[in-house]
Amino acid sequence: MGFNYFYSTAMKNNRFDYIICGGGSSGLLLLKELLADPYFENYQIALIEKEVKNSNDRTWCFWENQSSDFEDLLVTQWTKARFDSSSHSLEFSLAPYTYKMLRAEPFYRALYDSFSKFKQITLITAEIKSLNTFSDYTEVNTDKGTFISKFVLNSVFDPNILLNQKKYPVLQQHFVGWFVTTSTPCFDKNSIQFMDFSIPQLNETRFMYMLPISKTHALFEYTLFSAEKLAIEEYEQGIEFYLKRLGISTYQIEEKEYGSIPMTCFPFEKQNSPSLLHIGTAGGWTKASTGFTFKNTTRQVKKLVPFLKTHKPLNKFSSRNRFYYYDLLFLDVLFNYNAKGSELFERMFTKNSPQQIFRFLDEQTHFGEELKILSSYSLTQISWFLKALMKRLF
Ligand SMILES: Cc1cc2nc3c(=O)[nH]c(=O)nc-3n(C[C@H](O)[C@H](O)[C@H](O)COP(=O)(O)OP(=O)(O)OC[C@H]3O[C@@H](n4cnc5c(N)ncnc54)[C@H](O)[C@@H]3O)c2cc1C
Repeated sequence: MGFNYFYSTAMKNNRFDYIICGGGSSGLLLLKELLADPYFENYQIALIEKEVKNSNDRTWCFWENQSSDFEDLLVTQWTKARFDSSSHSLEFSLAPYTYKMLRAEPFYRALYDSFSKFKQITLITAEIKSLNTFSDYTEVNTDKGTFISKFVLNSVFDPNILLNQKKYPVLQQHFVGWFVTTSTPCFDKNSIQFMDFSIPQLNETRFMYMLPISKTHALFEYTLFSAEKLAIEEYEQGIEFYLKRLGISTYQIEEKEYGSIPMTCFPFEKQNSPSLLHIGTAGGWTKASTGFTFKNTTRQVKKLVPFLKTHKPLNKFSSRNRFYYYDLLFLDVLFNYNAKGSELFERMFTKNSPQQIFRFLDEQTHFGEELKILSSYSLTQISWFLKALMKRLF
C-alpha cells in the first residue's frame, strides 16, 4: 500500500495542500476526481476518516442515462418501474434511464484500493473534533493532532446546525430496509416499485420502495418524508404488513438497513470560508425535495475540481440555481401539508412522464418544462405553493 498512514500525535508534517474531512461517499468521490487530474500530482492531500470503511453501511441508488463510473460494482440495474397510490397504478419504462444499485462495501474497497498507488495521499485515521477556520487557512483538530490547510473540504455533517434555526424546515427521508429472500420466485427482477403510497399514510408522507435483485431476493424499504423519526418497530411492522399484502408469508431477512437523510433548503454554504468548503450532505448536496445525493455528488465534484485549480477562495464555489427555489417551495409545502404528500407525488407521476420527472430532478429541464410540471398540480395544491411563495417573499 502506498498510503502514508498516521496514528500518532508525533506528527512531523501537519500541513497539507488539501485536506478532505470524511472518507464517505463525497470525500471519496472528490478524491477520485482530484487524482484523475494530473494537475494535482504534486500536491499533498490528506483524507481524514474516523472509521475503517469496510461494511455495507448503505445502499446507493440513482438513475442515469449513460454508463456509470461504477458499472462493474453495481449490484443490478432496472429499466422499468411502478408507481402506486390509493387511486392510481402505473407501470412505465424508464428508458433512456436505468435505475442502478450500488452497495457501499465494494465502493469503499474499490476507491480506497485505487488510492493506494498515489504517494501524495496521506490517509489519517482520526476523529475530527472541531474545525477552526480563518481567511487563509483552516485548522482541523482531531484526536490524533491538528492538521492545517489553505483548502479544507469537509463532509462531516453536524445536524445541530439544522436544529438551531426555524427559517428552513427540515424533513427527513427516514426508512428501515430489509433485504429478504423468499423460497419461491416472487419478484419481477426487471421492475422496481419506485414509490407505493397505497399504504396507510397516518397523516404523514409514507411509501414503500421495493428493489428486486432477483426473483427471490429484494430490498423493501418502509420510508417517510416527515419531520419525526419513528420507533424501529413501526417501520418493521410496515414492511411485514406490506409483505403480507403481497402474499409473501415465508421469507428470510438477510440484512437490515436504517437511514435518515436530511431534506432541507438550509443555506449550508453560510458555513464556508475562503479556506473551508462543506461538501456532500454537509454542503447541501442532498437534493432537498427527494434526499437523493449520490449522483448529485458525482456532478458536484466534477465542477469542484476545475474550481480548485483556480485557487479562488472556497466560499466562491456556488451551486445554487433556480432549482433551489423550487425545492424551497416544495419543502415548505410538504412540511406544512405532510399528510398530503402522497397526493402531490400522485399528481406529479400521473401528469408527467418519469423521464420528464428525472430530468427535472436532475435540474436539466428548461423553464417551459418546469411550468408544465407545476401546472400538473390541482388548483388547491397550486394555492399551497403560492402561499409558501408569499411567505418567503414577505
Ligand atoms: C442508509 C442510507 C441510504 C442512502 N441511500 C441513498 C440512495 O439510495 N441514493 C442517494 O442518492 N443517496 C442515498 N443516501 C444519502 C447519501 O447519498 C449518503 O448519505 C451519502 O453517503 C452522503 O455522503 P457524504 O459524503 O455526505 O456522507 P458520508 O458518506 O456519511 O461520509 C461522511 C464520512 O465522515 C466520517 N465522519 C463522520 N464524523 C467524523 C469525525 N468526527 N471525524 C472523522 N470522520 C468522520 C464518516 O465515518 C463518513 O465516512 C443514503 C443515506 C443513507 C444513510
